[in-house]
Amino acid sequence: MNRPVPFVRTNVACALFAVTSLWLASCGDDGVNCEIDAVFTDQQQAEIRRAADDWNKLTVRDVTFAPEGEGDWLILPASVTLNRLGYAQRKRRLIRINPVTPDEQIYAVALHELGHALGLGHVPKGVMDPDRQTIVFSDEDMAECRRVGACPD
Ligand SMILES: [Zn+2]
Repeated sequence: MNRPVPFVRTNVACALFAVTSLWLASCGDDGVNCEIDAVFTDQQQAEIRRAADDWNKLTVRDVTFAPEGEGDWLILPASVTLNRLGYAQRKRRLIRINPVTPDEQIYAVALHELGHALGLGHVPKGVMDPDRQTIVFSDEDMAECRRVGACPD
C-alpha cells in the first residue's frame, strides 16, 4: 500500500509544475515586448516609445522594448492600405506603420496599434476609434481596456 504513494506524489508535483509553467507562459504573453525596425527614423522611434510610455501609465500589461532580434513583437515600417496608416495583428505579433506617416502622426498611430497589441478592440470614441481617432484616452477606451484585462478594475 505504501508503494503507490511516492508515485502519486511525483505525478502531482509534475502536474503542478505543468500548471505553473503554463501560467508563467500565459503571463508572459500578456505583455508586449517589441523591437522597432531600425528603418524608422530616431524621431519616429521616439514617438513610438512615447506612445508605449503613455499606455504603461494605464495598463497592467507593459509595453517594453528589446534589441533587434530579441523582441516578441515586431514594429515594421510597411504600407498598409491607401486609407490606413497602421495595422496590428496579435496572432503574428506584428505592427505595421505606414512609412509615409508624418512624424507628428506617428504617436497617434502607435497609440492605436499598441492598443490592439495589448488586446483592445475598436470603440466608438478616443484612441481606439478607427474613424475619428484622438490622442486622448476616452471612457470607452478605458472600459475596453478593463474588459480585456489590460487595465485594472
Ligand atoms: Zn484599429
